[in-house]
Amino acid sequence: MYFDILVIGAGPAGLAFSSLASDMGLTVGLFDRQTKTALSKPENDGRDIAVSEASRKILADLGAWTMIDEADISPIRAAKVVDGDAPFALDFNPSSAGADKLGNIISNHIIRRVLYTVAAKKDNITWFTGIEVEALRRDTNAAIITLADGQTFTSQLAIAADTRFSQIRRDAGIKADMHDFGQTMIVGRMHGTTPHNHIAHECFRYDGGLAILPLNNDIASVVQTFSAEEAARFMAMNDQDYAHATEPRLKGLMGKLTPTSKRASYPLVGVYAQQFYAKRLALVGDAAVGMHPVTAHGFNFGIQGIANLIRHLRKANARGLDLGNVGALKAYNTDHRRLTWPLYQMTEKMMGLYTTNTIPARLVRKAALVAAQTAIPVKDVLMAKLTDVPVKKMIASKVAGKLPIPPKLPGL
Ligand SMILES: Cc1cc2nc3c(=O)[nH]c(=O)nc-3n(C[C@H](O)[C@H](O)[C@H](O)COP(=O)(O)OP(=O)(O)OC[C@H]3O[C@@H](n4cnc5c(N)ncnc54)[C@H](O)[C@@H]3O)c2cc1C
Repeated sequence: MYFDILVIGAGPAGLAFSSLASDMGLTVGLFDRQTKTALSKPENDGRDIAVSEASRKILADLGAWTMIDEADISPIRAAKVVDGDAPFALDFNPSSAGADKLGNIISNHIIRRVLYTVAAKKDNITWFTGIEVEALRRDTNAAIITLADGQTFTSQLAIAADTRFSQIRRDAGIKADMHDFGQTMIVGRMHGTTPHNHIAHECFRYDGGLAILPLNNDIASVVQTFSAEEAARFMAMNDQDYAHATEPRLKGLMGKLTPTSKRASYPLVGVYAQQFYAKRLALVGDAAVGMHPVTAHGFNFGIQGIANLIRHLRKANARGLDLGNVGALKAYNTDHRRLTWPLYQMTEKMMGLYTTNTIPARLVRKAALVAAQTAIPVKDVLMAKLTDVPVKKMIASKVAGKLPIPPKLPGL
């Protein structure tokens, strides 16, 4: 069977890509090992996603944003980053950039559900679910996939959206830098008796990281990072013991805690593909760049990359070129690297520093936080990515606020 494009993986990246490709008038074969029931009613996986303004706009253009209940959208009004017990905090205040929030938090399962609903309405998408894609073969003329039951499908271009451990990427011989942080993240929602005022907190403790992602009604997604051994101990606790063990770690920030959801755990591995394309293949989402969740950018980079890839494919299509056209794939590669590489590197370096507990590392961490607060670009690059305010404008308004405005000379 022939489709213009074959998409492997119906996570947020595969779903968003398929809908946008279908809007171009292309036929799409979309494959996932999960059943259609599981994809249409995704279970809560514990992830709460900080959605940046740029991603919100893409979700809105897709018609997905308006499908999310207001009550399920929690604004982040500001953020604070602290190092261990140090009194100094790095403040992220969106008003300094002329924005009223840093972004919105939405549950990953809700994002998956609305993106599924959007894709399910597209006539050009044909679904193959509950079955494993076993192999992808590419030659000069076509990309061909084989399913576990032996069926084959032909196309001009294949899209790998099959997680950070992408088998398709590996089979295509694309190398990826992988960094196992040797840590596990536990996420779960908790209600606190002390209001969080929608301020996110990230605290780098010497015995593991800790973050509060503020949700509506004084509930927060409490994110804790441990060694795998410690994580297993914390995961085994009952709700009450987990809340008691977490309260002192938060140093009273949320008051008395009551868990309001199940906990989930994720081993932390960062992945960066050395190239985001090969002959008749493009990598998107986590298959291209699997970020450490600490800078909240895996989903955001994924969806923004997809918008870029679609733009280049649209141009190639308008010129009557083949969708596997290498010029379009190379242009996507350049854009996606430019978008992701600085923050990926910054995150890797920062986490390297925070997973090393030597005295020099502690000193560098404190100095880095102070430097990040005072040096203009470091913090603003991250804020610009979240608020979608151009970094130049942000720096300009900061400089304008810091420097005295020269008096206007008569006649000018
Ligand atoms: C705790 C946590 C918090 C996070 N917080 C944030 C945040 O605040 N902001 C942010 O931007 N990002 C965040 N992320 C990252 C975000 O969740 C991911 O970047 C995003 O979900 C990746 O989407 P994806 O579609 O690329 O991959 P996935 O969601 O992994 O989907 C891949 C799909 O491919 C299918 N598949 C794989 N292989 C095959 C095969 N061979 N055959 C058929 N189907 C296959 C799978 O079944 C799956 O449905 C967080 C991640 C974690 C773990």
